[in-house]
Amino acid sequence: MELLGATLSKIETIVTELGQPAYRAKQLADWIYKKGAPDFAAMTNLSAEFRLRLGECCALSRSQVITRSPSPDGTTKFLLEERDGERIEAVLLPYSERVTVCVSTQVGCAAGCKFCATATGGFVRNLTAGEIVDQVLTLQAEGGRRVTNVVFMGMGEPLLNYDEVLSAIRLLNTQVGIAMRKMTISTVGITPMIHRLQDENLQLTLAISLHAADDETRREIIPIAAKYSIPALVAACRNYANVTGRRVTYEYLLLAGENDSAVDAMRLAKLLIGTLCNVNLIPYNSVYGKAYKRPSASTVNAFRAVLEEYGIEVTQRFERGHSISAACGQLRAASD
Ligand code: SAH
Repeated sequence: MELLGATLSKIETIVTELGQPAYRAKQLADWIYKKGAPDFAAMTNLSAEFRLRLGECCALSRSQVITRSPSPDGTTKFLLEERDGERIEAVLLPYSERVTVCVSTQVGCAAGCKFCATATGGFVRNLTAGEIVDQVLTLQAEGGRRVTNVVFMGMGEPLLNYDEVLSAIRLLNTQVGIAMRKMTISTVGITPMIHRLQDENLQLTLAISLHAADDETRREIIPIAAKYSIPALVAACRNYANVTGRRVTYEYLLLAGENDSAVDAMRLAKLLIGTLCNVNLIPYNSVYGKAYKRPSASTVNAFRAVLEEYGIEVTQRFERGHSISAACGQLRAASD
């Protein structure tokens, strides 16, 4: 029985089955999720006999850090190995007032985005809730500061691994102690799953990788978008915002000559006008073997100005970790 990823009530059942008083479950959960214990032996306020029993019937599977790639800007990318030998990347971004961890949700990805490094290797498997929580615990221990924010923006498409991602979010919230509002799911826009997420009525931030305001361009750069039209996607996001009261973030990757013209900006503005949202502009980060280019600063500014003219709130992502290939779209779990 795997304990990392188990809910408190599941842990209670196990503890009771092992003949221990129920309050031990909370102690055990604290060791796993609050203190990030690497194994049962570290749980010193539990009796030696109980720890032995746990070791016999249960597992606490933590990933192994294979490499750490620190960047001069303070960002560190970690290559982690799971129990079955699969490798993923997670990124630690310490700021003065917050510590953010960017987690992966799948080994590889099936979305096939033309501009993204993760797409290159295709899809391998989903990560479990435990493996997602592990990334936060591991990077928290590595960084030596409490993690305050979690962004589901690493490798993989979170809404194509819905159940495990939602379990991880609930564990991070209730057990690890990360506020719902400090967690962001970034999705390529799996519309039916956005409806489902809306029904959970959580205070999460939803970020949509829109990247184009017309279906033709969008489908060219995001093949999986062929299944989900922009009008249906934006309608789902409007509902999400209405039900949860949370502003939706639209991420817009700027690719020189592809989607960065004033006409593109105007289309985007018209699409989003009157919705509870903001736009996060992401100038393209180079990925080896891809022919895309980052637009000039003046093109980015002109794009931004059009959106602002329409009263849309715009932020620009100042990417970190570029020098270590840890910026958006550069994760691919290569150890070279
Ligand atoms: N699958 C999810 C989350 C992972 S990607 C999603 O699609 O949202 C996180 C963000 O980085 C997405 O907006 C993604 O489109 C963007 N991204 C991918 N490749 C990029 C690149 N080369 N440069 C900049 N951003 C990129």
